[in-house]
Amino acid sequence: MTTSVVLFTADLRVHDHPPLRAALHDGREVVPLFVRDPAVDGAGFAAPNRLAFLADCLRDLDASLRDRGGRLVVRSGDLVEQVCRVATEAGADEVHLAADVSAHAQRREERLRHALESQGLRLHVHDAVTTAVAPGAVTPAASDHFAVFTPYFRHWSQQRLREPLGAPRTVRVPDAVASDGLPSHEGLPGVSEGLAAGGETEGRKRLTAWLRGGLSEYGDRHDDLPGDATSRLSPHLHFGTLSPAELVHRSRAAGGPGADAFVRQLAWRDFHRQVLAARPDAAAADYRSREDRWRPEREARADIEAWREGRTGYPVVDAAMRQLRHEGWMHNRGRLLTASFLTKTLYVDWRVGARHFLELLVDGDVANNQLNWQWVAGTGTDTRPNRVLNPVAQARRFDPYGAYVRRWVGELAEVEGTAVHEPWKLRGPDRAAVDYPDPIVDLTAGLARFKQARGLG
Ligand code: FAD
Repeated sequence: MTTSVVLFTADLRVHDHPPLRAALHDGREVVPLFVRDPAVDGAGFAAPNRLAFLADCLRDLDASLRDRGGRLVVRSGDLVEQVCRVATEAGADEVHLAADVSAHAQRREERLRHALESQGLRLHVHDAVTTAVAPGAVTPAASDHFAVFTPYFRHWSQQRLREPLGAPRTVRVPDAVASDGLPSHEGLPGVSEGLAAGGETEGRKRLTAWLRGGLSEYGDRHDDLPGDATSRLSPHLHFGTLSPAELVHRSRAAGGPGADAFVRQLAWRDFHRQVLAARPDAAAADYRSREDRWRPEREARADIEAWREGRTGYPVVDAAMRQLRHEGWMHNRGRLLTASFLTKTLYVDWRVGARHFLELLVDGDVANNQLNWQWVAGTGTDTRPNRVLNPVAQARRFDPYGAYVRRWVGELAEVEGTAVHEPWKLRGPDRAAVDYPDPIVDLTAGLARFKQARGLG
């Protein structure tokens, strides 16, 4: 009996999984493998919230494989060494893997290919598993990637996506291959209290509910901060418990303006991935330098701390930062305005903010996080790099009655009306009754500092 190894990375599902389906060809046995690589943990990718979510995903994947007669094999150690070892133990002659975009993933794929080929094994890398459209599948005439979203989206929309695959009925795993125990999140320190549950089963439930419920109103309500009317599918896309191609297909099939707006956001995800695939250095370096001389972290330490802890004195900023800590997730509008506040109003390096987000976000993702931070900071792909979001105007527009602020900033729960967005304007006993800090920065002064730094007159 010939055997294939399927290496699961950011594609922890059995539905619409081209590597798994390909590995099962001709009735082969398969080793579904996940490797806990300390190099990934050490590189700062393994934040507690993501480890906890990952543990759910692996448990669920193992259960789905068991339902089909198989099981998940988990190993710890250097990924390349472990894959080679498992392939030898199983007598496998091929390994299947989903393509991925980060510098780490690209190096890993190269090392793996080299190691397997030197053992006489084939590595099959499958495109469009972790994206709907593969990076590089659409390119402009004179470059290896699109640097602006709108033309990318035009081309992306014209791509014919593969049809989603069903889950295999049967998966046979050779008995001889042993597995370490599945990781658990019992006792993991630092996990957010309100963290969502992970796993493909949970992701598919959420997806079904979303297609029936929220999708149709997404176009009108995606910026409604208190309404919380976005899909919250981002951690499932990050861990690949849902397939982006399947999401696009099913959303288009549901139809309507909500679906169009939602599919556009999925294209943003692919957009950032094709940028990172071509420019892996953009995870740490400015994609387009604006010659920023950010405030030294030492000098800005108190401001950075206040921002992290949600006590800047700007209620909507603080609400969003507290949501991040409590849930390991933040509404997109919150991400935009807190990132603008840090990089533009406080003029702190985007990398400082991106690092904090990656410590907490359950969907924390090198492509989406770093490139969205760069977009907001104006060092990325935004065609209006110097726009600055005013947190009070943003709050009035996207949280008009203050419900989002009151939900997350307990000190302001009793403040009535729109004063909740500008508590520094309260006077006398009303102000005294509120134990909430004054703003750490004057917005006009912050704007002037930013304009001067960017040479905007
Ligand atoms: P929905 O609004 O329901 O959108 C559906 C999906 O589309 C999302 O799950 C996501 O995969 C994708 N998407 C939506 N908006 C964007 C976007 N602007 N860029 C790329 N993809 C998008 N997203 C992450 O997945 N991981 C991150 O680490 C991350 N960091 C961010 C940091 C900053 C500073 C900003 C401004 C945005 C960041 N985003 C990140 C993008 C976006 O905020 C989240 O994807 C979204 O809020 C997740 O919620 P949702 O699933 O309900 O999104």
